[in-house]
Amino acid sequence: MTGRAKIVLVALDAADMGILQRCVDQGQAPVIGRLLAEGALGNLDSLGRWLPGSVWPSFFTSSPPSDTGFHHYLQWSPQTMTMRRPDPRQPGEPFWRRIADEGGRVIAIDMPFASAPSTGIELTGWATLDSLEPPRSHPSSLLTDITARHGGSPRVAEMHALQSMDALRKLRDEQVEIAGMLAEISEHLLQRETVDLFAITFPGLHRGGHWLWDETGLLTPPTAAEQRELEAALPAVYAATDQALGRVLDAAQPDEVILFSLHGMGPNTSRVEVLDAMLDRVLGEESQNVSPLSTMQRIRHALPPRLRHRVKDSLPTSLQDRLTGFWRTGGRDWQKTPALTQVADLTGYIRLNRKGRENQGMLTAAQADEITQRIVEGLASFADADTGEPVVRQTARVEDVVPPGPNRDRLPDLMVDWNDTPAARHRAIVSPRFGTIDWPTPGCHPSGRSGNHRAGGFYLVSGSGTTPGSAPSGNIVDLAPTILARLGAAVPDEMRGRALLGGGIR
Ligand SMILES: [Zn+2]
Repeated sequence: MTGRAKIVLVALDAADMGILQRCVDQGQAPVIGRLLAEGALGNLDSLGRWLPGSVWPSFFTSSPPSDTGFHHYLQWSPQTMTMRRPDPRQPGEPFWRRIADEGGRVIAIDMPFASAPSTGIELTGWATLDSLEPPRSHPSSLLTDITARHGGSPRVAEMHALQSMDALRKLRDEQVEIAGMLAEISEHLLQRETVDLFAITFPGLHRGGHWLWDETGLLTPPTAAEQRELEAALPAVYAATDQALGRVLDAAQPDEVILFSLHGMGPNTSRVEVLDAMLDRVLGEESQNVSPLSTMQRIRHALPPRLRHRVKDSLPTSLQDRLTGFWRTGGRDWQKTPALTQVADLTGYIRLNRKGRENQGMLTAAQADEITQRIVEGLASFADADTGEPVVRQTARVEDVVPPGPNRDRLPDLMVDWNDTPAARHRAIVSPRFGTIDWPTPGCHPSGRSGNHRAGGFYLVSGSGTTPGSAPSGNIVDLAPTILARLGAAVPDEMRGRALLGGGIR
């Protein structure tokens, strides 16, 4: 007997619609092409523009980041005045576990930031890097079984530094292989189970998007042949994902398929690598005794990234986190630190050192307002040294863009949204008041990540009860209620989204 699924929910994590469409047009993604032709496509808004790391928990709990408090794998702890890895349960309980708890049959494979499962059939943290824990499963025999058939988890840590062409080839091949492994795991599970919901995330478009976007992550300029190879690398990961998706759908024979992505991908616009220096200049002007760049940070900046990575990579995760935090905050005089940057990948995050909230806070409410004003204006004064184009699009206060919620205090106070141009183009940035800051790697992105996120996601519904065309626009918090409604399940009151489509698929 073979099993099947009522709904198959597939995350094409951080997919870029432009590349997807090109792959479809060139025949590299026939499965997605068919779903696009037969299905209804809708846009999904989110707070990902401000807090790109918040989207997964927002999606699976149907609540904004001010409820979950989750926005990055390392977050500021006002008690210890360091960056800490959040409790793995902080992102909240995913909605599919509710279905399983209420007697529904659910298989969930590798959904990012989902905590260790204790219900249904579920695998977490296996190929996705977006996990606060090592791989886990329910039942626990599932992980044992998968490890026996596929070997250990294929997760490979990222090294934030310019890459060799060989390293990028390896990354491409790993992601192609992971897509196939996930298809095999799915086929194996679906042979034995009939389920209401089969949910899976393909991580390759996300990982590949960051590292294979273009040549600006390379250590040395590519040859013409290497350039062509690199241009074909990301589409190859998309094609492998399409093929794996086809295998999942063949095995599941679903009544309905929902593909989705919570945000997109584009050229890397992040300038977080120079935000410390920018903030240093802005804060340093008024008071001579303020030294935001601590001794530890100066040492960190002086070490080659490769060496830093090698030292860090040899340590257990908890020590790695502590080291990352220590480089940033170790040795600071907190009574002379009004504000500091937080660990971030795209949007710049700034925390104010507020009295009463931070353990060693120094700013009164009035001083915090005054410093905020100075930071917002100061950061806005920086522009590209050659084109004169501003570096910052907007610096927002958290209370101006994120709705109130019990955990809004865990989010950064200020969020820096960068101009929508590739950061790799800078030679230097300059402010009439604060002078010139050299871009560390002109023509390249110092993180080695040539791609980074774009706000805006989508969902695509295809099945017996849907008509081709456009689906209603919504927010990522609407997806969970939508899926619950499609399965004929009640939408809990605490969910902040609403069902975008009617209930009960036929
Ligand atoms: Zn990402």
